[in-house]
Amino acid sequence: MSQYKSLEEKIKQCRKCHLRGTCLNVVPGEGNVNAEIMFIGEGPGENEDKQGRPFVGAAGKFLEEMLATIGKKRGEVFIANVLKCRPPGNRDPLPEEVEACWPWMMEQIETIRPKLIITLGRHAMERFLPNQKISQIHGKVLRREIPGIGKQVFYALYHPAAALYQGSLRQVLISDFKKIPKVLEVIDKEKNDRGNFEDEGARKTSTEEVREEKKQETLF
Ligand code: URA
Repeated sequence: MSQYKSLEEKIKQCRKCHLRGTCLNVVPGEGNVNAEIMFIGEGPGENEDKQGRPFVGAAGKFLEEMLATIGKKRGEVFIANVLKCRPPGNRDPLPEEVEACWPWMMEQIETIRPKLIITLGRHAMERFLPNQKISQIHGKVLRREIPGIGKQVFYALYHPAAALYQGSLRQVLISDFKKIPKVLEVIDKEKNDRGNFEDEGARKTSTEEVREEKKQETLF
């Protein structure tokens, strides 16, 4: 069994919190386990709970439409949620539920090692990028160290469901989405530049990296 499949099996068997007692199906996530992009939402809704698959309702359909605008199909990316089991009635998750589920998220990221993590909505954003406002950071590239995993590039988007119900966010989300290919290009370019620097033995200081991060955040 592949490393990811065995992780998925473990997630499906999880009983670390009581949500498994009320949900119909566990929704571990799905897609290309070698994907460059990992989309992360908050948790399964009613449709996802019924099907055991992430983003299969109206929000998922809109996500697929936006993926098509950048020439991607959902099977080419990986789509997951912070919570793998639906909270009853779609209530907000309790802190202990998120805490119990978080190690699965970490294992998924460690296994998939995406170039870019795209958080969908305020709640998913807050788990990775605390103390930020989605109105200020959506559509910007942010870098953070994930403890135990390492440096990771993040891109926060409004939730497709929010954009469906709030007309003014729809255009914002569509235009942030269109910048994703450019974001990937920049990540590749930086990686190459860093490789060249390291070849020359010229390692950057952490201050230079911080300065670079500031520059990047305003690039888009
Ligand atoms: N909203 C989410 O955050 N995740 C899903 O899987 C579906 C809707």
